[in-house]
Amino acid sequence: MMSTDAQAAIARLRDSGLLKSKGLVGGKWVDSYDGKTVQVQNPATGDVIANVPCMGKRETDDAISSAYNTFYSWSKRTASERSKCLRKWYDLIVSHKEDLALLITLEQGKPLKEALGEVSYGAAFIEFFAEEAKRIYGDIIPPTSSDRRLFVLKQPVGVVGAITPWNFPLAMITRKVGPALACGCTVIVKPSEYTPLTALAAADLALQAGIPPGALNVVMGNAPDIGDSLLQSTQVRKITFTGSTAVGKKLMAGSANTVKKVSLELGGNAPCIVFDDADLDVAVKGSLAAKFRNSGQTCVCANRILVQEGIYDEFANALTKAVQNLQVGNGLVEGVVQGPLINEAAVEKVEKFVNDATSKGANVILGGKRHSLGMTFYEPTILGNVNSEMLVSREEVFGPVAPLLPFKTEEEAIKIANDTNAGLAAYIFTKSIPRSWRVSEALEYGLVGVNEGLISTEVAPFGGAKQSGLGREGSKYGIDEYLELKYVCMGNLEA
Ligand code: NAP
Repeated sequence: MMSTDAQAAIARLRDSGLLKSKGLVGGKWVDSYDGKTVQVQNPATGDVIANVPCMGKRETDDAISSAYNTFYSWSKRTASERSKCLRKWYDLIVSHKEDLALLITLEQGKPLKEALGEVSYGAAFIEFFAEEAKRIYGDIIPPTSSDRRLFVLKQPVGVVGAITPWNFPLAMITRKVGPALACGCTVIVKPSEYTPLTALAAADLALQAGIPPGALNVVMGNAPDIGDSLLQSTQVRKITFTGSTAVGKKLMAGSANTVKKVSLELGGNAPCIVFDDADLDVAVKGSLAAKFRNSGQTCVCANRILVQEGIYDEFANALTKAVQNLQVGNGLVEGVVQGPLINEAAVEKVEKFVNDATSKGANVILGGKRHSLGMTFYEPTILGNVNSEMLVSREEVFGPVAPLLPFKTEEEAIKIANDTNAGLAAYIFTKSIPRSWRVSEALEYGLVGVNEGLISTEVAPFGGAKQSGLGREGSKYGIDEYLELKYVCMGNLEA
């Protein structure tokens, strides 16, 4: 039963038709074969917002068949036709931005303003790839003999399985589906069971935009069964995944049997290095944004804040003042900037990391415990005197905890920063231009923010080095992940 609170929140939807609670297969809204469902809850209140089908192998096989059959017609459409459909989808997402943001806040917990930001960010991938659809150029290669002509064609790879996490219920999907549809692929999306409602609403808007039935399918429920079905199918030619490194490795291994193209956006362990010569205000503002966005639940969140000795006390005081002002609460309440964590397991992980750090000598400068609001709210926290041996430095905390690690020299900072298997985002704060270049080049990371804590944009390549992933999303490079190169040699032209 949906609670009264959830009903009231849902009543705020301008277009109540966007609240879908079935999967989308071949353009039809379907239940699971066995009628099983999973609850979608609001993490801020525990309210059940909807029950969605708990799908598995059979439903995913249906979605694969449908995507496979549609691939032939969708990939044959002209780039301009596909572009127009995507552009229409973008327009519909933008005109329904309040509703999509409300769904994000209800099922994921992030504050409404931040959710609106995610809708704009997510929509931007559709707009960008609507434009890129028309720019998938091949090559003509100067031939090695005069009776030959050599061409390179770029063609869609085929059916794509896209598995996405709960922390960006819309943007992680559009970042994959935008380029896939733009170049003629068809897609089966598997959103997280925590956040399927945004995915379903976005898929409904895609249908309204004229993206043909079967080009975009959505299944959710039993993740390992859905994953296995996608992995085992010879019709699925590409797996694109955003989520934890552990699941990413399983999907990479599982793709080997059918030699699928794979791209992975996995976990990070972002260092944020504040040098003595940083502008204090810029460093505090940037670190705050890089750490506390989405209550610390993003893969690019600063996980370790390395602070040079000369600025350590001043920075710790200024950051504490800023973090004290962060209002925690239900994301639907005006002024709230820190929502709940996604679930109880997430809070337990944060508690474990904080206890580990304090037991090894870190001091709690601010917070350090569950919030009095209960549920999965955790106090925005700052830990001082953290070192590289503590769990909080070794793994992603994925919560609102800022660990401060003191360091002496630039060389030492680079060494600490690179001492991890992750390599997604890194941040540095310094006024020195030579140092900006030196350190940016030395960091073994896919993304580097210099004097900036929010760097993601659809126009730049997003992705990780080392065990943070394979491939890039967004930008002109992002579409390559969905294309196959074909070399054509025309011979005997002078015969
Ligand atoms: P997760 O547990 O790996 O889940 C991600 C997705 O994989 C979900 O849809 C999940 O389904 C599904 N899944 C789980 N087990 C599976 C299996 N055996 N086969 C197929 N699919 C499976 O990660 P998460 O906790 O949702 O997300 C947080 C992680 O994502 C963090 O590590 C974060 O750093 C990373 N992340 C990376 C990026 C990036 O771009 N690099 C961006 C955002 C997040 P269910 O949820 O339904 O179980």
